Amino acid sequence: QKYGVNELRRMFLEFFESKEHLAMKSFSLVPHNDKSLLLINSGMAPLKPYFTGQEIPPKKRVTTCQKCIRTGDIENVGKTARHGTFFEMLGNFSFGDYFKKEAIAWTWEFLTEVVGLDPDRLYPSVYEDDDEAWDIWNKDIGIPEERIFRFGKEDNFWEHGSGPCGPCSEVYYDRGEKYGCGKPGCTVGCDCDRYMEIWNNVFTQFDNDGHNHYTELEQKNIDTGMGLERLACIVQDVESMFDIDTLHALREHVCRLAGVEYGKDYDTDVSIRVITDHIRSVTFMVSDGIMPSNSGRGYVLRRLLRRACRHGRLLGIQGEFLVTLATTVIEGSKDGYPELEEKKDFIFKVITKEEEQFNKTIDQGLSILAGMEAEMEKKGEKVLSGEEAFRLYDTYGFPVDLTKEILEEKGMQIDEEGFQAAAKAQRDTSKGTFGEHSYSGTDATVYDEIDPSVTSRFVGYETLTHESKI
Ligand code: ATP
Ligand code: MG
Ligand code: MG
Ligand code: MG
Repeated sequence: QKYGVNELRRMFLEFFESKEHLAMKSFSLVPHNDKSLLLINSGMAPLKPYFTGQEIPPKKRVTTCQKCIRTGDIENVGKTARHGTFFEMLGNFSFGDYFKKEAIAWTWEFLTEVVGLDPDRLYPSVYEDDDEAWDIWNKDIGIPEERIFRFGKEDNFWEHGSGPCGPCSEVYYDRGEKYGCGKPGCTVGCDCDRYMEIWNNVFTQFDNDGHNHYTELEQKNIDTGMGLERLACIVQDVESMFDIDTLHALREHVCRLAGVEYGKDYDTDVSIRVITDHIRSVTFMVSDGIMPSNSGRGYVLRRLLRRACRHGRLLGIQGEFLVTLATTVIEGSKDGYPELEEKKDFIFKVITKEEEQFNKTIDQGLSILAGMEAEMEKKGEKVLSGEEAFRLYDTYGFPVDLTKEILEEKGMQIDEEGFQAAAKAQRDTSKGTFGEHSYSGTDATVYDEIDPSVTSRFVGYETLTHESKI
């Protein structure tokens, strides 16, 4: 039995409903009342007020399938089988209700009985000092001791400065030797794609006073997260998350547009996967009201969209293509996210505008950058000057990360300080009129005709260094 993505999502939520959980809709990608986070990156993130006790949850047991964005994984995307900038996280949560014993038992029951995964391929890990969780896996569930891994703080302790924190227990699935890196010592916890981490159970049981003094929390919580795409990848027994039913359709659409075949050439495949991933992020972000801009969330959106455009060029796609891919994203995901269908026209308009804009300059920009590279090679230089990098940004709309990335492929980099200085000089000279003449400054207003109420204002470069690191 090979369940589809939409089926697996339903099975998960229904399973936890049968365990008395309240199934809640995915929250928006835009965090609510939370300045610490640019975009929602886990099932737990939008539920934080329930964990801290700031707000009362509608029920002590909640389950969700949460849309997530992790730009921190962007370098992995297209290269590993298991990372997307966009993915869906399934989760079950307990706010001072059940704890480790139930959480672990249900994790196991769902994976082995509901989904029917082979228990012999599953490996749990626990935090090295967490004998309680180890005992539950060993004695209650019956996993032999040599199959339970103990990992240190880095992998298996969830902590964010001060406040509630605690040990984790993860579940890995052995996908078989063919996915292994073949290095000696390749086992659970290896970075390769053989032992795929699918589910993380976080047991928030301590409070860190900020000086690493831990006290037991009175109200202990459970916070779990399982990547829906990873689960589907394993259930459907396919090579990567880009081969699961919903993403396969999207991936093939990319191939059709580019007139290329998947699985023939590594670099081509990377570009196909990057586009497949990024258009999902873009479509979902726009559906949550995020507009392209030069700072904050809008910059993340712009960066992903333009990065996808550039990979389209690498595949030989000319002209606009992203908006037609968005139709396939919506088709594949509207089951779980009806808002996609409802906001279809709006999504198309925003993507079309942004793509049209970048298309006007991308080819010229790419060829100028290629010229800069050639010049640098000739002179034996490795660092592109800040002014030149800024010119690409300002005149051709190249997000600085994109320039950086293209150069890095050739072992080069940009002078980031110089870039900031050039940006500052631009700000200082153009003052109030900034935006009228430069390419990157004009674009905030082009969205006014679509929906002025959601247009994000252009706020300049202040936050660029910070934002470009997320
Ligand atoms: P990994 O070590 O593989 O990068 P992680 O430990 O960073 O994963 P968690 O923060 O524990 O992941 O998130 C919980 C679950 O969400 C993971 O076990 C995985 O199934 C899923 N997940 C995390 N990051 C991604 C991603 N970039 N793309 C798809 N699924 C993800
Ligand atoms: Mg990770
Ligand atoms: Mg991990
Ligand atoms: Mg993890």
